[in-house]
Amino acid sequence: MIPVKEAIQIVLQQTPKLDTESVSLPQALGRILAEDIIADTDLPPFDRAQMDGYAVRAEDVARTPACLRIVGESAAGAGWHHEMKAGEAVRIMTGAPVPAGADAVQQVELTREIQSGSQVEILESVDVGRSIVKRAAEIKSGETVLRAGEQINAAMIATLASFGYAQVKIGRRPRVAVMATGSELVSVDEKPGADQIRDSNNYTIAAYAAQSNAIVERLPLAGDDTKELKQQIASAVERSDVLITSGGVSMGVYDFTKAALKELGAEIFFERVALRPGKPTVFARLGNTLIFGLPGNPVSVSVTFNLFARTALRAMQGANDPTHAHEYAVLARDLKGSIDRESYLPAVLRTDEKGTLLAEPLKWGGSSDFVSFARATALINLPAGDRKIAAGSVVRVVHLPS
Ligand code: AMP
Ligand code: MG
Repeated sequence: MIPVKEAIQIVLQQTPKLDTESVSLPQALGRILAEDIIADTDLPPFDRAQMDGYAVRAEDVARTPACLRIVGESAAGAGWHHEMKAGEAVRIMTGAPVPAGADAVQQVELTREIQSGSQVEILESVDVGRSIVKRAAEIKSGETVLRAGEQINAAMIATLASFGYAQVKIGRRPRVAVMATGSELVSVDEKPGADQIRDSNNYTIAAYAAQSNAIVERLPLAGDDTKELKQQIASAVERSDVLITSGGVSMGVYDFTKAALKELGAEIFFERVALRPGKPTVFARLGNTLIFGLPGNPVSVSVTFNLFARTALRAMQGANDPTHAHEYAVLARDLKGSIDRESYLPAVLRTDEKGTLLAEPLKWGGSSDFVSFARATALINLPAGDRKIAAGSVVRVVHLPS
């Protein structure tokens, strides 16, 4: 049995980075950047008005009301490219370039046009620089604005668009095969007979993998039969970067997943992790395919996928933070650890009226209770040790993907 931290280290060591690909900007959302993003222009690219109003010289309007002659108009996309002189004003719109000679913009609400629009009365004075964003105040041309390894969110799409990245270089999607094992399983569209249950793991794992940008292939259900398992595994690794199985890795007499892997000549990196739930998790490689043999229990599947498989999928795409981030929260109820294993227990995070982040352990029926587990937003990570952790203690928490 190896500690969780060591298991994650092994996953990172054994996980190769996949090739990169180029996609059009709208396709880049959620993917991992494979290049640094460099600004090709200043932002703003010119001194820009932040308000609709009048470009003025602050000293001309030090005493108000001040009457100025309107000499032109600067609109967004159609600036007024002359020198503005003392006693003059230029009508200006938000996003338009501020003319040379002007050093402030007074907002339209504090002005009044007179003399049928040939003059403007400025009703309040302004400081130099008011309502002007100077050229390059936000970003200088040549600056690195996003780094390789960052995951592209919706706000970053604006950054990519603004600097002309019609095509974006990103890590390619991992091809992931998912296989549920167990002779008790029937598929979602079947009515389970006596002693049978519907397979849920194939769908959960496929959903989690898709959230990590994988191209997912769901394999047919495999019974507890070494020959059948070997056939399916051998064929899946031909066309997948990662194979994720569930079930058949415990100590039962019908747990054949490990035997199948070994008979196929897979290299096993670990097969037991000091983790609750999820002790019998297997990590192996066959050919160039990484294999995660997750336990069958649906809750164990969620925990082990998120600790190990998600880490590998993100690392493959070049993420600079492939592992889950730890945070800290105050435990809302007493909770007990396990003697020799680290625990990752389902919880809901909420803040109390003082603004403290609380981790509320889920009331649930144990490792097989996936219906309750679905309400969890985080996992409480307790260190190994059979002691009671009292309500009010600070504990580590890991966010679950929503
Ligand atoms: P195993 O690890 O194969 O011993 O399975 C542990 C528990 O998880 C058993 O109760 C199985 O019936 C259940 N289980 C295994 N595979 C699945 C699956 N694909 N969907 C739902 N439950 C499963
Ligand atoms: Mg089984």
